[in-house]
Amino acid sequence: MSREGNNETSGERQKAAYSLRQRYLFVTAILTLFLLGFIWLAHSYVSKHVLQHRVNMEQRNLTTHTVRLLRDSILQIEQNLERFLWSPDESRRHIILHNVDTALMYFEQLKEQQWLHSVGHADDLGDFDIDIQALHVSLKAVMDKRVSINSRINSVHTVGSKEFTNVITSLQQGIGPQFQHLWEYLRTLDQDIEHYAAIDADQLTHFASTIIRGIWLLTIAGLCLIVIGYIYFEQRILNPIAMVARALKEEADGRSGIELPRAHSFEHQQLIDAFAEMRFQVQDRQSALEHQALRDNLTSLPNRFFWQGALNKQCEEAKEKRNSLGVMIVGLDRFKEINETLGHSVGDRVLQLFGERLKYLLRSNDTVARLGSDEFAIMLPDSGQEETVYIARKILEEMGHPFQIEQINLYVGCSIGVTLYPKTSNSAEELTRHASIAMYAAKRHKSGYALYDQKYDIHSVHKLSLATDLRNAIQNDRLYLVFQPQQSLRSQRCSGVEVLLRWNHPIHGLVRPDEFIPIAEQTGLIHPLTTWVLDNSFAQMAAWRKQQLDSGIVSINISVFNLQSPDFIGTLQSQLYKWDIPAEKVMLEITETAMMADPTHAKATLEQLHRLGVKLAIDDFGTGFSSLAYLKQLPVHELKIDKSFVMEMAHDENDAVIVRSTIDLAHNLGLRVVAEGVETQEVMDLLAILDCDVIQGYHLSKPLPAAEVTQWLPPIQKEGNVRNIKDFR
Ligand code: C2E
Ligand code: CA
Ligand code: CA
Repeated sequence: MSREGNNETSGERQKAAYSLRQRYLFVTAILTLFLLGFIWLAHSYVSKHVLQHRVNMEQRNLTTHTVRLLRDSILQIEQNLERFLWSPDESRRHIILHNVDTALMYFEQLKEQQWLHSVGHADDLGDFDIDIQALHVSLKAVMDKRVSINSRINSVHTVGSKEFTNVITSLQQGIGPQFQHLWEYLRTLDQDIEHYAAIDADQLTHFASTIIRGIWLLTIAGLCLIVIGYIYFEQRILNPIAMVARALKEEADGRSGIELPRAHSFEHQQLIDAFAEMRFQVQDRQSALEHQALRDNLTSLPNRFFWQGALNKQCEEAKEKRNSLGVMIVGLDRFKEINETLGHSVGDRVLQLFGERLKYLLRSNDTVARLGSDEFAIMLPDSGQEETVYIARKILEEMGHPFQIEQINLYVGCSIGVTLYPKTSNSAEELTRHASIAMYAAKRHKSGYALYDQKYDIHSVHKLSLATDLRNAIQNDRLYLVFQPQQSLRSQRCSGVEVLLRWNHPIHGLVRPDEFIPIAEQTGLIHPLTTWVLDNSFAQMAAWRKQQLDSGIVSINISVFNLQSPDFIGTLQSQLYKWDIPAEKVMLEITETAMMADPTHAKATLEQLHRLGVKLAIDDFGTGFSSLAYLKQLPVHELKIDKSFVMEMAHDENDAVIVRSTIDLAHNLGLRVVAEGVETQEVMDLLAILDCDVIQGYHLSKPLPAAEVTQWLPPIQKEGNVRNIKDFR
């Protein structure tokens, strides 16, 4: 516990030493102490010198003053003595003696001057003392002598005589040197005072210059500190901050992985940590955004954008390593119908489950992406044709198992377009396009999968020009009709024909309706096209009638777009009228999915058609998801079981079950049942057992031109044009 505490405190101490703020405070404290010390030193230095100087000056002034008073006293002694010598007078003697006392007093004062002792005048003062004492004695003697002379003068010398002057002069000369001594000493003293004053002035100058030097030194030290501080500041604070700022900017410009500077301080470390944290968060958010941008939200699979990048890369790699690369585009069959009939949530679930299945089937280095609504793309690196086709087959096999969604078992088929680098496609762009073209070919041929072939290209490349060509074909009668006979299983007679459209394209040859009907639907050409079909079908019916041939019920295929057009009923009516065709001889075939696309509208239109007298058939039954309850409400007469169930029903138990239950269901609803796609006798026999009403298929006849189908048509029976319902079945 205490060890932990120790560690903690030593850690804190380290942190404190590492901190810029602590370092700044530490340096500032040291500098403050240093400055205070300097100021204290300067202060005591200055006050010591100033005090010394002032004492010196005061003492010197006092000495000068005392010397002056002393000099004055001596001068007065000398002058009074002179006067006394010339005229001795008792009062003057007193004055002189008083002067001498004064001089002695001043001298005593002078002797007490400490300064004189300090400048080495102690001996001189002793001499002066002797001199002045001697002068005192001499003065008294000279004055006594003068007084004695004076009494003699009156007898010997006359005042003003030469002898008198001589006597006085000799007296003066006798005492003169003693005065000279004193004057000499006083002069020396004056000189010394001046000398020491000069020394003091020198010292003052020296002191002042020392102070100035000190200030200079301090200023230089301060400047040096500023420079050092700046260099430190620059290296430890500004540069690292600039580096972090640069790293930030580069990061912002999208260049990541910039090396961060090493931290020199706690604060700097905090900045770097904050930056690293920010960088981490930005990268995190960026990868989330990238994920969002490159992934499909619904399936979490890579999206088209990602796919293009990955395919480009893989293609380059394959080119470099001379490897093969397999690419597939997988499209779900009838996905639109699933969405429309079972709802988008089921559609979405199908896509998710399908994506999962694809991922499950592939290796870890394969890529599966979702390109569009029901389109998936698969990339198989290092795979040739054999491996790619194997995977395509595996996918198709897997689709034999239903998807379980909301307790429904949903069978969903798919079509796969396969292409290979470098065998059939040369670039990433070509790989996707070719796989897509192959996928549409697989859809058209209902072959499950298709390997890309150049011949498929024509269809997609000329898809756009096909629309123009189709418009011309309608206008210039480049289309023609074929008729596929239908036979009643009960009467074994031809009960009618289905009208099928053909287009002989001047360049592409025969174009299948599966291919150009969708184009017509997309471009709006379906309306003139259907009008053309109705016109020509009714014309043919009229021609057969003229030939006394009974075409039975003529089935004509109608697109969902026709049902949605408000003009359709009018067109149909006028065409019936134009060729004088009884409405009940016409059966309009509408696919189950078309009916379910817009049920309310479809129901209203079907009711109008029903009132007109035309019959209605549900085509391709079994491929949609019609509910029995809904079917019951529609004024339909016929169910056409889709050929995909019929063709294999002899071998496929499931198909047989579907066909049987459809027949039962239709009969329960009072509908006629037509089985299309009958290709074998076996199937035909089976259908007879199942009580199917009518059959249609290659086993009976392929669709035939009008001239050839006549052999199937019985002559018109005189009793009536319209067969009763028994015949109809
Ligand atoms: P659908 O209405 O299901 O027509 C039957 C298709 O099955 C025809 O193909 C027919 O040739 C083919 N078929 C008939 N018996 C057999 C058989 O035993 N085995 C096989 N495998 N196939 C058989 P086709 O003529 O190519 O027509 C394809 C589709 O094009 C038609 O399917 C129909 O939906 C559409 N269609 C054809 N003519 C017209 C038209 O005039 N107007 C509209 N709106 N659609 C048309
Ligand atoms: Ca049909
Ligand atoms: Ca059909």
